[in-house]
Order: sequence, then structure tokens, then C-alpha cells
Amino acid sequence: MTMLETMPPLTIRLCGPRGFCAGVDRAIQIVVLALKAYGAPVYVRHEIVHNRYVVEGLEAKGAVFVEELNEIPAEHRAQPVVFSAHGVPKSVPADAEARKLFYLDATCPLVSKVHKQAMRHQRLGRHVILIGHDGHPEVIGTMGQLPEGSVSLVETVEDAANWMPPEGVESLGYVTQTTLSVDDTAGVIAMLEQRFPHLTAPAADSICYATTNRQEAVKHAAPGCDLFIVVGAPNSSNSKRLVEVALKAGATRSLLVQRADELDWNEIGPIRTLGLSAGASAPEVIVDEIIAAFKARFDAKVELAITAEENEHFLVNRELRGIELTVADMAFVNGDYAPPPRT
Ligand code: SF4
Repeated sequence: MTMLETMPPLTIRLCGPRGFCAGVDRAIQIVVLALKAYGAPVYVRHEIVHNRYVVEGLEAKGAVFVEELNEIPAEHRAQPVVFSAHGVPKSVPADAEARKLFYLDATCPLVSKVHKQAMRHQRLGRHVILIGHDGHPEVIGTMGQLPEGSVSLVETVEDAANWMPPEGVESLGYVTQTTLSVDDTAGVIAMLEQRFPHLTAPAADSICYATTNRQEAVKHAAPGCDLFIVVGAPNSSNSKRLVEVALKAGATRSLLVQRADELDWNEIGPIRTLGLSAGASAPEVIVDEIIAAFKARFDAKVELAITAEENEHFLVNRELRGIELTVADMAFVNGDYAPPPRT
């Protein structure tokens, strides 16, 4: 009897799209290219994206992660400091300029778009309601685009039912964090619109294409799964939403996993159908690692559950566009996957 014949059968439903979005890809490229252009160290304020593996991979190349700009030694002022994909309050670039630092902003263009929509509401005299998670860096960054007192954070339907506009406010507009649950956010917006019929929506949806597409693919693959694994970090909002979406869509269990060595095989038990996806900040090499771990224990076949094709690509900062980015430069996160050449 061969080893395969002794292994239990398993179908892995692998979601697509999954993993890196264009904003995360761009942010990582900015750090990699800055290291090639300017040499180490390149400073990065906060985790560039919410993934420890990515952070450690960039550290190995010479990136230095800091919480605040005052941690950058004076003798390294000429070295670049990169701001994370989540965006930063206006005070951060202002502080960098005051310290005469050379900064490269890796804020995702879709987060910048939300900033602009929030500022537009405010310019037109509307008090801004931001729907998002308290303390998330993107929420801190978006609130920090607006003067104090001109924005309020609402997290849940219950908050939306109880929130009262500040005195004297006559007009309201909302934006949302880019990585929320599409369905839960629709409930929060419906509650706000019911209470404030003149509430103005942003000109375009704030929840980004990557969040929406990853949730759709999970919804499609999850029904009938004995277990659904989402590769991602516990502080990654979009990854945590995928775990919730999988459960709501019918997976019996759903787990957020950072690396294959976290898998508890006793807990996993005898499953026949596994759903697998990855949050927007989770590298494909870890998806491969998880599949390999299951293939070592099951007679596993992989079925693709593809619900959309993604072609989004965001250009890196002007200063870095002349620097060549090779497959080897990004192999630490992409493995040997080579994205199609960009024109
Ligand atoms: S999840 Fe969406 S908003 Fe966030 S970095 Fe990716 S594309 Fe940009």
C-alpha cells in the first residue's frame, strides 16, 4: 500500500482572488526599491503592512521599523523613511518636514481616495462620520486629515443607532475604512440613513475592490467546508473579516493562521473539505506552505474557487520608478511567482 492510499482524502478549495492587493504589493515594493536606491537603513514608520513575515523579510534586507519619527537618529536623516500603506495623519508628513527627513509615502492610493472624500465632505460644511474600527492605523490616518471635532467614529449598528451629531451640526457625510465587512457596513449605513435621511454618501465606495473581491470569493467557497483557513495576521482587519465571512457563509469552523507551524492537527481532526484564502497583506509563500502541510497529511487535491480577476496595479513613488524590480527582489514574499510585466 502506498503512502497516498493510507492518507485520508481532502479537497482544498483555494479562493481567488486572495492575498496581496495592489496597495500592499506597492508598499512592499517601495521599501525594497528604496533599499536598492539608497542602501540600508531604510526606516519604516509602523508595520508597512499587517504581516510579521513581511516585516521580518524587509528587516533582513535592511529596513528598520520605528513607531515614531523621533526614533530616527540624526545622522540618518538623509536616509528615506517610508509611511505605511494604511496612511498617516497630516501631522506625520508635517513632522517629517520639520525634522528635515526624506520621506516616501506608501499610503495606498485607495486610502488616499477616502482621505480626499472625507476632506471634501468637511470642505462642503458636512460633519464627517467615519465608519471603522477604533485604533486601527487607517482610522487614525483618516481622522487625522480633518480638524479636531469635525469627524466622529461609528463602529457598529448599535453605535449608529445611538450616535448624536454635535450641537449645531446641520449637514452630515460619511466615509468608511477600506477593509470592513461589506455586509456589516451596509447595515451600519442603513441605520445612519434611516436616522439622518440627508446623510451624504462618498462619491465612490470606500470599501476597496480587494476587500470586496476577497470576501466574495470566500462566500462562494465556504458553504460545505468543514474548516476554512484564512492566512493573515491577528491585527489585519481585512483578514479577520474573511474569517467572519467564511463562518456566516456556511463553513463549520474558521481559523486565522499566520504560519503552517501554528496548525494544531489534533484540533483540525478528520476533515474532508478545506476552504483556503489569504488576507490582502498575507504573502503567497505562506499559502503554499499551508497547502504543503495539508498535502503531507492528506491525499489532498486543490480546486480553485475563482470569482474575479484582478488587474489593479499602482505605480510606486516617482523617485523610485527608474529602479529595476526583479522577481528575485520579491521572492521572499512571492516565491517564484512572477507577476506579468507592467507597461
Ligand atoms: S486592502 Fe484595499 S485599501 Fe488596503 S492596501 Fe489593499 S487595495 Fe489598498
